[in-house]
Amino acid sequence: MRLRQLTDTITQATRLRFMNAYFVREDDGLTLVDTTASGAAPALLRAAETLGAPIRRIVLTHGHGDHVGSLDALCAALSGEVEVLMPERDARILAGDTSRDHGESSAEVKGGWPTVTTTPGVLLVPGDRVGSLEVIASPGHTPGHVALLSHRDRALICGDALHTAGGTTVAGVRNWRFPLVAMATWDAQRALQSACELRALEPTLLAPGHGRGLAHPLAAIDRAIDRASSSTSGERRRVRSASS
Ligand SMILES: [Zn+2]
Repeated sequence: MRLRQLTDTITQATRLRFMNAYFVREDDGLTLVDTTASGAAPALLRAAETLGAPIRRIVLTHGHGDHVGSLDALCAALSGEVEVLMPERDARILAGDTSRDHGESSAEVKGGWPTVTTTPGVLLVPGDRVGSLEVIASPGHTPGHVALLSHRDRALICGDALHTAGGTTVAGVRNWRFPLVAMATWDAQRALQSACELRALEPTLLAPGHGRGLAHPLAAIDRAIDRASSSTSGERRRVRSASS
C-alpha cells in the first residue's frame, strides 16, 4: 500500500495502484474514508501505525465492494472500537433492499455489492459533519453516494463521483483507459448533476477513489463535465430515436 500525503491532514493510501482509501487526521485520531477491496485490513492498520494515530472511525462514500471490502476485517481487528458511518441509502442496498425511492431512475443498481456483516453505527445524510468533513450528497454512481468536503482547506474526497484514473472523468462516462467506474454507475445523468454540484463547491483538491489526488482541479473538472454533457445528451438522442 502506497501512502501519499496530500495535505497537512489528508493522506491517500493506494492499493494495487488503482484503489484509494484516505486517512484524515482529527483531534482524537484518524478517520478512514473507504477501505478498498477485501484483504486490505492489515495494510491499512500498518498505514495508521505509520501515521502514528489510531483509526477512530470509518466513513464509506458508497457501498461498492472496492470501497467497503475490508470493513468487516478492520472492525474485527479493531475489536469493534471504531465508529462506522455509511450513507443511509447505500446501507439499505447493502442490506438487500434494492427498491427505488420516489423519483429515482429505475435503472439497475450496478457494481459489486458484497455481503457486509458490520452494521453501521451512524447512517449518514447530507449535511452531517464527521470531524472536519461535511457529508455532501452526490448520487448517480450509486443512489446513496456521498462525497466529503474538508472544512479546513476545501479538499474534496469524492469517492467515485469523479475519478482521475486515465484522466479526470465524471462517473458514468466511458473512459477506455479506466472503464471500471462507468461500468458500475447506476444513473449517468444524475452523476453529471452531482459533478456540477461538487464543482460549485470550488474544491482546492480532488481526492478520488480511483486515480491520483489532483490539486487545483477546477479546470480539469470543467473539461470532464463538458465531456459528460456531450456524452449524456448523445445517449438521450439515441434513446429518443430508438423509441420513435
Ligand atoms: Zn463505486
